[in-house]
Amino acid sequence: MSEHSPFPAGLLAAAGLNRQHVFDLAALPAAITATLGTTAGFRQLILLGHGGKRLWECVEAAGGAGDDPIDDYCARVVADWFSTELPGHRYRIVYPGSAPVSLQRLGALAGWHHPTPFMVGIDREWGPWWAYRAVVLADTTFCHSQAVDRGSPCTGCRARPCVTACPAAAMDGGSFALEQCIAYRQRDESRCQHTCLARVACPVGSEHRYEDEQVRHAYSTSLDAIRRCR
Ligand code: SF4
Ligand code: SF4
Repeated sequence: MSEHSPFPAGLLAAAGLNRQHVFDLAALPAAITATLGTTAGFRQLILLGHGGKRLWECVEAAGGAGDDPIDDYCARVVADWFSTELPGHRYRIVYPGSAPVSLQRLGALAGWHHPTPFMVGIDREWGPWWAYRAVVLADTTFCHSQAVDRGSPCTGCRARPCVTACPAAAMDGGSFALEQCIAYRQRDESRCQHTCLARVACPVGSEHRYEDEQVRHAYSTSLDAIRRCR
């Protein structure tokens, strides 16, 4: 690979990992590199995300089995990508994994992260229907990505339907009351056991809204995690 070669995004995008950002490892804030574990021999940090429905379609087409079918699938895609496009290159997947890497801090550096009132990130194209999927250390020499700057759609949203849609009134105080949301979600009659009504109410990028099954998977998984911690 030559110095600063273009990023070969095709296989990743086709597999549903359609958001990519390449960081120069040496230029990252120390507070972030400290969360990555040993970085010896690596030059770049690659942030991968998905926007819209494509990833879930691919996960289902691949069989969708296991406790965490999305994470398992993404790890396989990254491995396939390196073996196909980058044979001989070293990499290590930092996320998913146990490293305490801050996805939102990386997202902010990439220009991806703008918080909604319910704290999920929002994007002008994808609305709230996107997510971080992998963080990968690599010994690659791709051109470094420029941060995107698309601003926050929430800034000009006067109606704020997400706020009024929340049955726990978790945003009525002007900031997000996480404990109110969590307490409501655990109630037997909760309408947020398998979804977030605030997220669904946001009109931005609604054409990219996940299929019901993906929404159910995401919120069932998070509710299980909440119940395990309580
Ligand atoms: S409904 Fe408006 S305020 Fe709420 S997340 Fe969407 S754009 Fe932001
Ligand atoms: S999951 Fe439900 S309670 Fe929590 S913020 Fe979303 S709409 Fe509100």
